[in-house]
Amino acid sequence: MSDRNRKGDIMAKAATNDEKNAKTLSGLPESAEPRRHYDIYAVLEAPQELYFGDEKEVNINIVEKVRVATAKGVVEKCYIAPSKRRGVERRCLLWSDAGGRLLMDKLQCGIPNTCCRDDCPVCAVFGGLIAGEKTFIGRLTHGGGVAVAPEIALEKQRAMHPALIAKEKDDPPMPYRKEYAQPGLLYPISNHLLSVTQMEFGAAAYAFLLSLHRLGAGNPKGLGFARAAWNGRSEPVEPLLVVDSYRVPLGERPLVSPSITDNQDAVHRFVRLAETYKKDSDEEAFQRRLGTEALEFLQSCAAEFEKRVLRTDS
Ligand SMILES: [Zn+2]
Repeated sequence: MSDRNRKGDIMAKAATNDEKNAKTLSGLPESAEPRRHYDIYAVLEAPQELYFGDEKEVNINIVEKVRVATAKGVVEKCYIAPSKRRGVERRCLLWSDAGGRLLMDKLQCGIPNTCCRDDCPVCAVFGGLIAGEKTFIGRLTHGGGVAVAPEIALEKQRAMHPALIAKEKDDPPMPYRKEYAQPGLLYPISNHLLSVTQMEFGAAAYAFLLSLHRLGAGNPKGLGFARAAWNGRSEPVEPLLVVDSYRVPLGERPLVSPSITDNQDAVHRFVRLAETYKKDSDEEAFQRRLGTEALEFLQSCAAEFEKRVLRTDS
């Protein structure tokens, strides 16, 4: 084989390796900041009736429910689908003010037209898709949302279905009914981020906190943290919130089984699981923040995001 041919052969092999690497590599830019996993666990409480619909029956908008097997038999429970929370979180981010423009206008990134740019703080965690061109794998996933108590939804009459408002004004108003999840329901939920920097986590923390005010379809909206005391004490009550940041999962996951129907029981289990983790491990490997400390951590990450992304021109 002549030198020239051998060189060509080596170059051809190198090209195949590059192609292979391009298919194997994540496509994420390298980061000087270490990446860790982050989990948010919370028990949310509805301060008033809420509507999270998914179906419509004749003249009644139905609240989304799931059927769950419990010790008392099969019951129906109200449900906040994780995909709904995800949608509200992403919109909260994109519709935030960034120096007179909404963030979506500043980034040229929307729903469903995600931008998929390497430096987009939204696509970086939520993922994106440009059909046929580029897929950005989301590193944020959502879970939970099945209510604890199997309260049957309330049905209330509304004056007119919104779809009919645009119709002939002369038509008599058409009464319709809407189901609402009862006030005081508890919804255990969780958000998980896979291999993100603390800076990237800031967007998720900001979106999570801002979405709480705006969860629900129609009015009224909004959820708060349920509260209880930690460590078997009676005071002070703190939010039922856990934030983990770690390289190794060294704690129990404070998930509440959907088969539990008693609020006290659910809260007790959440607290007990949240307090079960390897406390002596080094913080780099596993760090768990509980209650007020967890909330303050989310708030400081969200504040850093606001300063860095929403308040600067770049
Ligand atoms: Zn984007």
